[in-house]
Amino acid sequence: MPEHHFHDRALETLGRDDLCRVQDEKLRRLARAVVSNAFYREKVAVNGFNLAARGVEDLAKVPFTTKAELVEDQRTFPPFGRLLTYAQSRYPYLHQTSGTSGNPLAWLDTAEDWETWLRCWSYVYRAAGVTEQDTAFFAFSFGPYVSHWAALDGARRLGVRCLPGGGMSSLQRLKAILDQKATVVLSTPTYALRLAEVGRENGLDLASSAVRVTIHAGEPGASVPHVRTCIESSWGAACFDHAGATELGAWGFECESHPGGIHLNEAEFIFEVIDHETGRPAATGEPGELVATALGRTGMPAIRYRTGDIVLVDDEPCVCGRTFARARGGVLGRADDMLVVRGMNVYPAAIDDVVRSHIGAAEYEVEIRKVSGLDDLTVKIEAPEGTAVNDVARAIRERLNIRVGVQQVPPGSLPRYESKARRYKRVES
Ligand SMILES: [Zn+2]
Repeated sequence: MPEHHFHDRALETLGRDDLCRVQDEKLRRLARAVVSNAFYREKVAVNGFNLAARGVEDLAKVPFTTKAELVEDQRTFPPFGRLLTYAQSRYPYLHQTSGTSGNPLAWLDTAEDWETWLRCWSYVYRAAGVTEQDTAFFAFSFGPYVSHWAALDGARRLGVRCLPGGGMSSLQRLKAILDQKATVVLSTPTYALRLAEVGRENGLDLASSAVRVTIHAGEPGASVPHVRTCIESSWGAACFDHAGATELGAWGFECESHPGGIHLNEAEFIFEVIDHETGRPAATGEPGELVATALGRTGMPAIRYRTGDIVLVDDEPCVCGRTFARARGGVLGRADDMLVVRGMNVYPAAIDDVVRSHIGAAEYEVEIRKVSGLDDLTVKIEAPEGTAVNDVARAIRERLNIRVGVQQVPPGSLPRYESKARRYKRVES
């Protein structure tokens, strides 16, 4: 793998023992900084030990941090809660979460913490082979979301020519991508397919455009094999997944050995995988909830933060040479999104994969009804007359061992999304 495909080859290929030493040193530095952090001082003091003195050895003694706690902290101590390590004047970067699942969470970064964001993005871009020769288009709304701005600044830091695509229609975005000869496009997986659809409707040939790399996050899609295939064939480009969270930063990225899963950035984070129900470490080879400690952000720290993302992690060697562990198949789903269909647990991404393998880039929606305490699913598919939609139900039954209903709806009748899709809808039975 060429040097420019790494952020820091030496660091990314360290043996496990050396990597642990790097993590330990960074964790102790973080622990020393958060001594003046009211939120964590309280959390850590409960157990009466010194994280700065013991490092990774003691990390498991710190209680988990949850999103609900952070939201509650800001509600109780407005506007920013007790999570700020330093005086407010040290935080020039203010962003917030969308608040779709409750109150928005304000998130602040110091100049030093912002540098950490950009460094994490450097891993994402380098692993996808992005260099200063590239022109990147950001198909984002550029709202208050930190990831949009960090992605933009991170690319600029690498010398990539950047065009922010906020405040534009899909057609305007496509024309900008073609006119400016963008070679890299960033969007949610859903929106990459939506742009491809608008391209087809307007006679624009994206597959022969200059775009050679697409980078996605926000949904599991880019690691879902048949979603990835649809994006890659529509754009004639290599599709890369990555993962992040406002509270942590961009914690995972995909290398060119894909689809091998998402590398966990173990130089910037310490990861654990736990059983979502019990909070105990997940059994080896079993999926579980990812817990992460951000080692480089001291201003608004996240220590043992429960991401809600379900992953299956292993540290098998990767052909790219990196020793960072990988989340196989990317983020498999959100803990909250798991469906229980006739007694079987299933994540939407698994259903997405089967549906896409049959209908390609067409739009669909899944209605969920509670029947006797269990989820009953109906997949509504936009497909031309004559499409064998019942094959989808059969394939889902064979692959996932669940029965679903399938209903054909007219092309163009389902919603389209510019950011994360909301294809799974709960309806009253
Ligand atoms: Zn790799």
